[in-house]
Amino acid sequence: MEFRDLRRQYQYNKQNIDYAIWKVLDTSHFIQGKQVTELEEKLADYVNVKHCVTCANGTDALQLALMTWNIGEGDAVFVPDFTFFSSGEVVSAVGASPIFVDVDIDTYNIDSEKLETAIKTVLQKGAMIPKAIIAVDLFGLPANYPELRHIADQYGLYLLEDAAQGFGGALGGRKACSFGDISTTSFFPAKPLGCYGDGGAIFTDNDEWAMLIRSLAVHGKGLSKYDNVRIGMNSRLDTLQAAILLEKFSVFIEKELRESNKLADFYTEQLKDIVKTPVVKSGFYSSWAQYTIQLEDSQVRQNVQEILKAQEIPTAVYYPKPLHMQQAFRKYEYLDNQYEVTNGLCSKVLSLPFHPYMEIEEILAVTRTIKKILV
Ligand SMILES: *Cc1c(COP(=O)(O)O)cnc(C)c1O
Repeated sequence: MEFRDLRRQYQYNKQNIDYAIWKVLDTSHFIQGKQVTELEEKLADYVNVKHCVTCANGTDALQLALMTWNIGEGDAVFVPDFTFFSSGEVVSAVGASPIFVDVDIDTYNIDSEKLETAIKTVLQKGAMIPKAIIAVDLFGLPANYPELRHIADQYGLYLLEDAAQGFGGALGGRKACSFGDISTTSFFPAKPLGCYGDGGAIFTDNDEWAMLIRSLAVHGKGLSKYDNVRIGMNSRLDTLQAAILLEKFSVFIEKELRESNKLADFYTEQLKDIVKTPVVKSGFYSSWAQYTIQLEDSQVRQNVQEILKAQEIPTAVYYPKPLHMQQAFRKYEYLDNQYEVTNGLCSKVLSLPFHPYMEIEEILAVTRTIKKILV
């Protein structure tokens, strides 16, 4: 069994994808071909945001957002402690300080109350200026944007939605990638909407920021590529990836999202009485980047992982280490006792094989084994 079976997904959609790739090769317009613009228009329309700018990956997308807001030295940016490294890395990359905030034990997303406490602490100390909140839609579930928007407005902070795992999710009738002042996603192959290499996108309703992002992503271009008015980076989505994404996007919205939700419900039905299963609160819709359960402790988790592995069922731990404990961030000297929930989650979470092309029989093979171990 595969953890996320990208080969099976390709086999189901092979004809269309092969043809799309061949068309790019045939025209040989590899950079900024018409598929790139077409994809940006389709994604912006789907998310219901005015501008979509594609770029090279989800990490660049986040960094471009921070650069657009001119965030740097002396600025504080609030980031959940339980997420992929990128969410915090980009803050340090632009010279600002990531302030990690503990997460909610049910949703795995940033804890609004602890966020407000962290903002107040930074204001009291007075050494840094709070500038932005990076909210992550972890495992596909949108963060609590009504609460986060309220806090961002109250303290005059930018809200950046890191929807690298969240594309396709929704909350109260609005789509993920529409909740931030700027929102970003990733098309890394294993993300809910993945391409066949690296890719990313940035969403915003703000005309001026969209123009700045387009400039920053292509060497700070002015009127042309050889007129450079600011320091930027080289971060583009290539035409091949855009062509692949156009095909995969149709299948994603027409079929995969619905299938993922059906399969996640089935998993939960099978497991809800024996382990802590994912919590999707009323009004929220997940795109299921991962299906993650919580076990009693690291010992039980290791045992479950080993027995599943012996049956050729792969699992993964997202994430084994809180960001505040990463060596790369050691200079910021975080207080470990402020991250009780994340510290616990890192020893208890286990992500199970999951993708929209899983067979019911495969899920049953996983859940039967887990039941045998734990009941
Ligand atoms: C994958 C991921 C990123 C980075 O995306 P890349 O395309 O790999 O650069 C950022 N944030 C989160 C939460 C992610 O899961």
